[in-house]
Amino acid sequence: MRRPIIAGNWKMNNTKQQTKELLTDLIPLVADAEAEVVICVPYTSLWQAGDMIRGTNIKLGAENVHWADKGAFTGEISADMLLEQGVEYVVIGHSERRQYFGETDQTVNARVKTALAKGLKPIICVGETLEEREGGKVEEVLVRQTTEALKDVDKDALDKLVIAYEPVWAIGTGKTATAQDANDTIAIIRDTVAKLYCEKCAQEKLRIQYGGSMNPKNAKELMAMPQIDGGLIGGASLKAADFSQVVKYNG
Ligand code: PEP
Repeated sequence: MRRPIIAGNWKMNNTKQQTKELLTDLIPLVADAEAEVVICVPYTSLWQAGDMIRGTNIKLGAENVHWADKGAFTGEISADMLLEQGVEYVVIGHSERRQYFGETDQTVNARVKTALAKGLKPIICVGETLEEREGGKVEEVLVRQTTEALKDVDKDALDKLVIAYEPVWAIGTGKTATAQDANDTIAIIRDTVAKLYCEKCAQEKLRIQYGGSMNPKNAKELMAMPQIDGGLIGGASLKAADFSQVVKYNG
């Protein structure tokens, strides 16, 4: 019903040459994948990656998008600029953006609305910090982040966006939420969306990924959970062999 989607988030990694090397290895390895495969790459690699994956089953993603059409926003990038490069998906509200670059629930919402209006598919990141988890605030944080991100977003957009549940304490740390814990927490997000829209839309339309140190060893167990529709993969997406094993988590 909900097709699994595995997306790599390269972050600030891979020059043009490294992009070429990684994709040369990756493309044949994932050619027969059942899951939808996406790579979200730095702006400087978009052209190279887009050119190499054209005609394959890998889809192109970016790591951010500005909410304005154009203008005096030094260092930012617009939806039209991304579309021109063949971008289909865009990561919005990654915890590193929230932590280091002043991203807020409001700017996440602004980016999401622009992305959708322009025909880009947002991968919206939500997740609690360790402090919030230890303070018993997981539900409160996730309900708030999800509700704010989707403010004024139409029900029809739910199958054009993806939510990535990424507990901040699990990103790049080697610590993974247990499969059961990830599943139960994602259920909170789905329930929030059900309350905002409708039960059927949340169950049938919305895909929710898990992200946080997902790798070839834990992918199968995580993907077996009924609430988990895919993964947003950081470190393990930088090695073709590792990423392809996550993409083909069943094999
Ligand atoms: C991420 O960057 O979204 C991520 C989940 O990173 P990692 O897989 O390295 O924890």
